[in-house]
Amino acid sequence: MGKVSFDISGKVAVVTGGAGILCSAMSIKLAEFGAKVAVLDLFKDKAQEVADGIVANGGDAIAVECNVLNKESIEKACKEVMDKYGRVDILINGAGGNKKEATTSEDMKFFDIPKDALSWVLELNFLGTVMPTQVFGKVMADQGDGCVVNISSMAAFTPLTKTISYSAAKAAISNFTQWMAVHFAKEYSNKIRVNAIAPGFLLTQQNYYLLIDKDTGEATPRGEDVLFKTPMNRYGEPDELVGGVIYLASEAASFVTGIVLPIDGGFLAFAGV
Ligand code: NAD
Repeated sequence: MGKVSFDISGKVAVVTGGAGILCSAMSIKLAEFGAKVAVLDLFKDKAQEVADGIVANGGDAIAVECNVLNKESIEKACKEVMDKYGRVDILINGAGGNKKEATTSEDMKFFDIPKDALSWVLELNFLGTVMPTQVFGKVMADQGDGCVVNISSMAAFTPLTKTISYSAAKAAISNFTQWMAVHFAKEYSNKIRVNAIAPGFLLTQQNYYLLIDKDTGEATPRGEDVLFKTPMNRYGEPDELVGGVIYLASEAASFVTGIVLPIDGGFLAFAGV
């Protein structure tokens, strides 16, 4: 038996959407566990704040501007990461999200949802995961090792009401996670692993308007449903996603590829009755 190690210290982690609520928490924690973190985001100034915070706490991080939907931008970001750290051990495809215009509501019937909104959500989540994997995955293929962690969602297992494109895009991410895991292992190296986490419900910008009534601050009927359907009867905290990511990124998961790990307070296990 080899040693079981959760140690990620010294590994280079690239986090897309790293200035966001979940992925900034992830970047900070990965750095606390000794990883060198490249915080990639569309908004460089926000990524810089995250990186500065990490460095101020004695960690190692850089902020890099990157649009996950633009190959040139990703390649430029990859060059910056390689110039600074020389390799890529972990890619976390965190950029993603939903938007109101692609969500059914009293004001937005399914029949009227604009194509632009549908495509925006599909592209950001799905292509925004595939394209950085093309660029940083190439580095991993050249190295012969590496590990990708995608961010799926509960919406991938059974679609959530209202969020049509988001559910489809996250299902596509889970599917891509399996596809890519097999492709890397068969075509390049069985030391390149691809997995995903599927967070349950966390209160963040993308879902706040759906879960909390902006006038009263109380749970909306949908918010009540979410809490009922989550056996732990609470929302998750961003830091609660980190353990799963560290597990997947470490040697402890050396025989794990192509899985989607729910981190959901039991949401997926509960049929609702
Ligand atoms: P967030 O909006 O706080 O963060 C997303 C980040 O991605 C932002 O910093 C944004 O600037 C960046 N971004 C957007 N478009 C980009 C682009 N084209 N290129 C590069 N960066 C871009 O979102 P979050 O709530 O922290 O979610 C992070 C991930 O977790 C998303 O994939 C989301 O779908 C997923 N997720 C969230 C929840 C939840 O409950 N909030 C649940 C399941 C999954």
